[in-house]
Amino acid sequence: MNPNKKILIIDDEFFFRKILTDALSNGYDIIEGENGDEAISLALAHKPNLIIMDVEMPVKSGIEACKVLKSIAETSHIPVILFTSRSKKEDLILGLKAGADDYITKPINLSEVLARVDAHLRTRDYYTELEHKDLLFLLELSENISALRSPMAILRLIVDRMNDIVDVSRCSIVSINDSGEAFVKASSDLKMNDEIKLELFKYPEIRKSFESKQTVIVNDIKTDPLMNSVREYIQDLDYNSIVVIPIIKKESVIGTFFLRTASPYKNGITVRIQKLCQLVANISANALENAILFESMKTAQEYFEDMSIRDGLTKLYNHRHFYNRLEEEFSRANRYNSPLSLIFFDIDDFKRVNDIYGHTKGDKVLKQIGQLLKSVARESDIAARYGGEEFALLLPNTNAAGALDVTNRLSAIIREHKFEKMNGEQITISAGTATLLGKNIESYEQLVRLADDAMYKAKKHGKDCITQA
Ligand code: GH3
Ligand code: MG
Ligand code: MG
Repeated sequence: MNPNKKILIIDDEFFFRKILTDALSNGYDIIEGENGDEAISLALAHKPNLIIMDVEMPVKSGIEACKVLKSIAETSHIPVILFTSRSKKEDLILGLKAGADDYITKPINLSEVLARVDAHLRTRDYYTELEHKDLLFLLELSENISALRSPMAILRLIVDRMNDIVDVSRCSIVSINDSGEAFVKASSDLKMNDEIKLELFKYPEIRKSFESKQTVIVNDIKTDPLMNSVREYIQDLDYNSIVVIPIIKKESVIGTFFLRTASPYKNGITVRIQKLCQLVANISANALENAILFESMKTAQEYFEDMSIRDGLTKLYNHRHFYNRLEEEFSRANRYNSPLSLIFFDIDDFKRVNDIYGHTKGDKVLKQIGQLLKSVARESDIAARYGGEEFALLLPNTNAAGALDVTNRLSAIIREHKFEKMNGEQITISAGTATLLGKNIESYEQLVRLADDAMYKAKKHGKDCITQA
């Protein structure tokens, strides 16, 4: 951050000053004041690099103070960020008309504040040349964006809304990693689960924006010299103009905002459109970053949730989840009077596999058997690793004959499988099945006991066989 930069914070509420001071005191020198008059006197005395000021204050409002600050030569160049509650749109517009450079809405989002402060210490003069309707558009856009949680939805919204003001056919976010590879993080016209890698050499406009940290505008891709090196790739494209805006955070480009338009602008891309795009990029940067983070967290959460119900080696359901599902399926079967079958099986002489081929090989065999089990199971069946080398398969809506059929197929597919590096040695299983039909079994524990007993009978009968309870 900027240790020698001074920020003047003006708010009559101590609480807000405290939040902002705490958030910013780490990197900036903070001066505090309580009203519009103090804003003017402190600005004159300290010459801060930035003023953050509440709109509603006693004595002199933020809007009046802003007007004065912008009319005094010594302070007119200092960027002013106003903040007020979301519902006070007209106030903000008055503030921006009075010369304020930016606004933040309450309840304040600290990371947004930091991003804005950062941006204003780099550039200023955002809002001049914008019309009243543009300001209203920006306020509404930021309000709507902040309610969205998906990057795609944010980009779609931007494209939709930008179309009311300028003509944009596509809008995407491109980022470049440390190795110089570019990825489309999100795009308004693509359904994406994964990032798409871009061949960066085909996009000189994106490269230029990243390198220069500046907005790059290509008004007509067919004639702009910047596109000379990629003529062959762009001949058939159905759009004409491109705007690439860098999304900058903490001095580095975290991504670019990439807009394409169908037709070249009649008078070129005006300063107004450029500014508007830049502001939309600023507004969306935070929301997009949060949304992308939120999505990756959701994926991580789903992953961990999934891991907690699965066995790490075979990726089948674990013992605990098997019992949860068994309980559910047992009561469902009872409720609807539908059959429910359970198969238990244990690998024959598995100790031998470990002893001869080693424990690691034993693990591989278990994993492979897990896959074979999945291959005979239906989508609705619940396949689990019950214990070390014991497995279970729960079959909803399956009667005893159905269960026997599945067990026969399973035992055959395992017996016939050529396990790697086992000298053609066969692996066999002993299996037991039990079936709930009507009210023949009282509890799911009893169903488990019956299948387990049947499996032990199969072992006693000399292994490699199936017993039905
Ligand atoms: P049986 O035909 O009577 O079932 O004989 P068995 O050799 O399979 O004997 P038992 O069921 O008593 O022993 C199971 C063996 O499975 C013992 C244990 O070391 C091995 N085992 C259990 N879990 C794992 C595992 O995760 N990986 C490996 N490699 N071996 C395991
Ligand atoms: Mg065993
Ligand atoms: Mg065994």
